Amino acid sequence: MIIEKIKESRFTPEVFDIETFGTAFSDHMLLCWYKDGKWGEPIIKPYGKLDFTPAISVGHYGQGIFEGMKAYKGSNGDVYLFRPEKNFERLNKSAVRLDMPEIPEHIFMDGLKALVDLDRQWVPATHGMSLYLRPVMFATEEAITARSSNEYLFAILTAVAPNYYNKPLSVKIADRYSRAANGGVGFAKAAGNYAGSFYPTHLAREEGYDQVVWTDDATHTFIEEAGTMNVMVRIGDKLITAPTSERILDGVTRDSMLQLATKLGIEVEVRKITVQEVYDAHKSGELKEVFGVGTAVVVNNYVAVGYGDERLELPLLSPEESYGQILKKNLVDLQMGVSEDPFGWRV
Ligand code: PMP
Repeated sequence: MIIEKIKESRFTPEVFDIETFGTAFSDHMLLCWYKDGKWGEPIIKPYGKLDFTPAISVGHYGQGIFEGMKAYKGSNGDVYLFRPEKNFERLNKSAVRLDMPEIPEHIFMDGLKALVDLDRQWVPATHGMSLYLRPVMFATEEAITARSSNEYLFAILTAVAPNYYNKPLSVKIADRYSRAANGGVGFAKAAGNYAGSFYPTHLAREEGYDQVVWTDDATHTFIEEAGTMNVMVRIGDKLITAPTSERILDGVTRDSMLQLATKLGIEVEVRKITVQEVYDAHKSGELKEVFGVGTAVVVNNYVAVGYGDERLELPLLSPEESYGQILKKNLVDLQMGVSEDPFGWRV
């Protein structure tokens, strides 16, 4: 691996005050090019521009995949990654589905660790804050032929993640649009999945909601995901979430939350959940919480769920009562090195 260090760091403590996610990039980035059937030597260099023409293949046919993960700083100054092998495996699952070359483990893992190590001062030490890490791979061949590209770039960028307080969000249950279909690419972190979700999200915003809760594409009967998070529903004292499928992204946070919940003695059910069941539970007063779980915000407790023309308001539970908030605290403590790590998740 080649390492070209920045001459003068752009870091100032004020970078941690940003409010918008994904706009403040750290000093360095990792790049690795795929050409002539093989990956080249990875290079870490100062973050900056690349040179492409408008014929770049990804711009036309969308062979682009990515990952989202974080680095955390403990009070002792140690910097941790959280289950990075899960993101590595998922990136390569996405690569296979998009007919892109898989990235070798040593390039992903060693590159990630070297990059975070070099930019460790960009990892905030404040509890609940982190440096967001964005591995991404896209087709770079200069060709507008409709086929798989022969050239790719794998890159890792890092961006300061603002302190996500639990901004109350409301969500609209999808009854017209879908993000994924059987046989499609829903389980992959493919760029096009996000492109296709922006318009329905825009429409939901016009109706006063922040995000869309995706349902199955065939019948819009089953609850699947929420925005860019997996979704969990609490009915009575049971925590319910949909099983992953070829339409649903296998979230690292979802998996971790299920294991944590079980350990905390919360009754967990992984099964299909219908929109009707959620609606009926709201009517009977049994619907306690609906929340999204994902790397970016960890947990987002929804204040309202829109179903057709109805807006189902949800009760605001205290942090001690809310499964979402209990799980969030337990997970963040583990990620930041505050608590023990019985699962061996910290790296
Ligand atoms: N679903 C979708 C569609 C997502 O984009 C994300 C974010 N990666 C998630 C779920 C949550 O996954 P994770 O917990 O691995 O961040």
